[in-house]
Formats: sequence, structure tokens, C-alpha cells
Amino acid sequence: MIHFFCPNCWKSISDRIIICRYCKYDLRNFNSLSYEDKLILSLKHPVKEIRRLIIFIIGLKKFKKAINEFSIMIEEEEDPVILMEIAKALRNINNNEAKKMLYKLKSHRFPIIARYVEQNYYHLN
Ligand SMILES: [Zn+2]
Repeated sequence: MIHFFCPNCWKSISDRIIICRYCKYDLRNFNSLSYEDKLILSLKHPVKEIRRLIIFIIGLKKFKKAINEFSIMIEEEEDPVILMEIAKALRNINNNEAKKMLYKLKSHRFPIIARYVEQNYYHLN
């Protein structure tokens, strides 16, 4: 069975509706979004593996617009694997904003993340 999620609130919905009954998002709007904006919305996907893949693609495409969402995720995300993927994506994007955020990750509340960023992205500097 295929499972459908609202791309705005990520609650489970039917594929036959137009307006999400939870958050009132008009699902027709999703199709007119840019690829970049669709990816950014998908950063809230409830399945961790999907979130990780989305972060990977954003890094690959160097989509700078995702940096704002990353800064929120860095504070809220509890999974080190996701946080490491964000660090990798920031390294790929590599503009000033991404560099500043990577620097901030060096003192992340999770020691494993702080060490990961320090060892992988700063040992050569
Ligand atoms: Zn919704």
C-alpha cells in the first residue's frame, strides 16, 4: 500500500484530497513549487532515511536556500547521523553562511558532532 503524506505538515493523508484536513495546505500548490523548495519542505519528512537523502541531495546541488532550515534542524535534531549529513551538505555548499554554521557545529551540544566536524573539516586548517 502506498502511503501519502501532506508535504506541509507530514501527517498521513488520502491521495484523493486537495486540501490537507490537518493543516489546510492546498496540495495543488506543491506542484508549482521549485525543485529546491520541494526539497526544503521535505526536510521535515517523518522518515529519517528520507530526510537524510534529502540533505544529501541538497548538498550535492549546493542549494543555499536550505541553510535557514539547516540552522533550525541543528538545534532540534536528535539524530547524530542526520546532523553529520547536514555537516557534509554545508561543506559542499561552502559559502560564508555555510562556513559559519560549520564553525558553530564545532561546539555542538553533542560531543560526537563537535568532534566529527573538527576532525573531518578543520584538521587541515
Ligand atoms: Zn498538512
